[in-house]
Amino acid sequence: MNMESIANSGVQTLSPYQPGKPVTDIQREFGLEHVVKLASNENPLGPGNKAKAAITGFADDLARYPDPNGFALKQALCDAFDLHHNMLTLGNGSNDVLVLLAQAFLRPGTNSIFSQYAFEVYAIATQIAGAQAKVVPALGPDSSMPLGHDLQGMLDRVDTNTQIVFIANPNNPTGTWIGAKELQSFLDQLPQNVICVLDEAYVEYEGFDDTPDAMNWVKQYPNLVVTRTFSKAHGLAGLRVGFAVAQPQITDLLNRVRQPFNVNAIGQSAAIAALSDDAHLKASRDLNRAGMQGIADIVQGHGMSVVPSAANFIMVDCGRPAQPIFHALLKQGVIVRPVANYGLPNHLRITIGTQEENAFFAQAWEKVMQMNLAAS
Ligand SMILES: *Cc1c(COP(=O)(O)O)cnc(C)c1O
Repeated sequence: MNMESIANSGVQTLSPYQPGKPVTDIQREFGLEHVVKLASNENPLGPGNKAKAAITGFADDLARYPDPNGFALKQALCDAFDLHHNMLTLGNGSNDVLVLLAQAFLRPGTNSIFSQYAFEVYAIATQIAGAQAKVVPALGPDSSMPLGHDLQGMLDRVDTNTQIVFIANPNNPTGTWIGAKELQSFLDQLPQNVICVLDEAYVEYEGFDDTPDAMNWVKQYPNLVVTRTFSKAHGLAGLRVGFAVAQPQITDLLNRVRQPFNVNAIGQSAAIAALSDDAHLKASRDLNRAGMQGIADIVQGHGMSVVPSAANFIMVDCGRPAQPIFHALLKQGVIVRPVANYGLPNHLRITIGTQEENAFFAQAWEKVMQMNLAAS
């Protein structure tokens, strides 16, 4: 009996998401004590003190199910962003809400549209639903945003079977972004029966001017869904909390699909605390800005260039296959992220770390650049 033959057709050909390598794997594999992970766009400062305080003392409460409606977290989000409860869907990370969107709106015979080099989860969520992925070529080297989303090209691909257009702003793994004017013009032209999912996982880094006020735009556009996460700038990736903002009609549909207890109790409390911790957000942003320039300076030269980034990572074009460089860095105790699975075999994505982590990376990078990798 071949079990794959009875699986859903999309699942049969699915390749799972490739996560960054965990520190413990590399310590074991190479017998290293000190390993720096700059591979998953986590906040190098960790959670803020307010979030840490909120999660202590939880052990005694864990026999209870979490609040299935996340009332307190939704209230905190409403207060922070001027929203209403009926516009919010909470998720086990924003990955969860991306999959909920696909489950609610995609099915065989329909399609979703996203850019070449866009976040891998859009392709996976589309495929699980058995829908077709229409991948639009990224902007070329002569455009103002090489490797970025071609919004006009995406509009041109919309057909009668298109249900969702996924846009990441800024995008992972490229770090590219879209300004408010351009995005608004796109939304004005998108048919109202096609949903625009705007993934703002890195928007808190305020890495570019002319940032769209997209959560507010939701009130104008019944087909706009904005997704956010506590995993990146808020430093809570381990707790898995994200959310979607949309008008009540879409929100109601997403909440029908959602598991009743999809966001755990500790995560809900930590997220509420994180929302009020402006100082931690600012420290995270400042550290990122300073580190970004430093990393860019280090990796440029040796015939390599960087892709300008508005997020907490930077992609370097090694000008040659990146895999040997990735491996040599691992042996030095530095984990970065190869992006060959995105069709970028010459690029590496490097998350900005603490000053100490960046310095450790810089040392390892210089060492690796001295090696004759082709011969080793
Ligand atoms: C990291 C990331 C997410 C989601 O992360 P969660 O931890 O599931 O919230 C979503 N979109 C992009 C573009 C990301 O890079």
